Amino acid sequence: MSDVCLPEVSDPAEAGGRAAGSVAGSAAWLRAHPARAGTRRFDRADTDSVCVDALGRPLQDLRLSVIDQCNFRCTYCMPKEVFTKDYRFLSAAERLSFDELATLAGAFVELGVEKIRLTGGEPLLRKDLERLIERLAGLTTRRGRPLELALTTNGSLLAAKARGLKAAGLQRVTVSLDGLDDDVFRHMNGVDFPVSRVLEGIEAACAAGLAPVKVNTVVERGVNEHQIVPLARHFRHSGVTLRFIEFMDVGGAASWTQHNVFTSADARRAVEQVFPLVAREQQQRSDTAQVYRYADGAGEVGFISSVSHPFCGDCTRARVAADGKLYLCLFATDSFDLRRLVKSGCSADDLAGEIRAVWARRGDRYSELREETRARPGNKVYPTVRMSLVGG
Ligand code: SAM
Ligand code: SF4
Ligand code: SF4
Repeated sequence: MSDVCLPEVSDPAEAGGRAAGSVAGSAAWLRAHPARAGTRRFDRADTDSVCVDALGRPLQDLRLSVIDQCNFRCTYCMPKEVFTKDYRFLSAAERLSFDELATLAGAFVELGVEKIRLTGGEPLLRKDLERLIERLAGLTTRRGRPLELALTTNGSLLAAKARGLKAAGLQRVTVSLDGLDDDVFRHMNGVDFPVSRVLEGIEAACAAGLAPVKVNTVVERGVNEHQIVPLARHFRHSGVTLRFIEFMDVGGAASWTQHNVFTSADARRAVEQVFPLVAREQQQRSDTAQVYRYADGAGEVGFISSVSHPFCGDCTRARVAADGKLYLCLFATDSFDLRRLVKSGCSADDLAGEIRAVWARRGDRYSELREETRARPGNKVYPTVRMSLVGG
């Protein structure tokens, strides 16, 4: 549990004694926040999950990271000063094979997971990813429905791959895009990649029917907030839902400060001043975005307030890194080694039993505790696993 790859900016000494992830802390939290805890209880109608954590949250979604490498060096995720050519990424042998990933996915589905999102690093760098997608697409949920299968990508390889991904059984893609201005985008992706190629990828995904296509934009104050309105304008009437994400203090985000967070409220105001918005009902409790419709019917736009309005109480997501480690929170420092179990020939049933036991102890709610954790004297940067290992 200790061989988590910590970002170079972190201070491992601070990992001890933190409240997030502590189950002992969670019982106290439920007592201290009865109203919030009450509204956050999931009832049976919400879920078919047979796996509930210490705060009453069912296991419903899985983020499966297939590779920790990436062809971008986004300033807020894999700054090039840290992720140099000498950086030690997982070797091919350290990554789970497609057989192992499929076995794991089967165990999660057995526990009630209904949605799997493939991520990375850059998932489209994993050779023959379509073969894994074909296998996952064949899974059915406990309710007997096809599994929801989605992928998050930087879009750089999407123009070439969109049709093949759809043919393999992928249903939807989310593309990350932080600006329309070529200079801003080239700076933020850290490798001078042109925005036109990502836009081509988004068009190819729409044409291939990987719908609804979503576009995620991380907004960092002083860097790309002036891209909010141009992006909104570009994706109106396109059928693509654009979502603005607050810049988070996850591993890799060496430059994070509270001041750099451009809040969802500010992003919404910026859009609203030009294009009036109407709030839309939240569709699923585990939805991370607050979605608005353009008042003139031009489509939808979403805002993900991970920092200003944390949604830990509704967080039903497990993350498995490319090396088979299970993380219960994006900000976790500990992991549970599923790879060892898969390698030892553990059956899907036995795996499911192990995962269930780990999930039952989950009390993570880092974002809700961010302020008090960071405010501790001497606290520099909260240590987290790097985002490119566990996926977003
Ligand atoms: N490479 C793929 C991509 O960029 O879409 C998938 C992996 S990436 C780690 C997943 C998501 O995490 C992306 O949408 C990215 O913008 C987001 N992300 C990475 N670092 C972040 C940070 N510090 N704050 C907020 N979002 C972040
Ligand atoms: Fe790569 Fe995605 Fe991280 Fe950017 S956000 S560096 S594309 S993993
Ligand atoms: Fe979930 Fe994020 Fe809260 Fe962790 S910090 S429990 S990943 S919402």
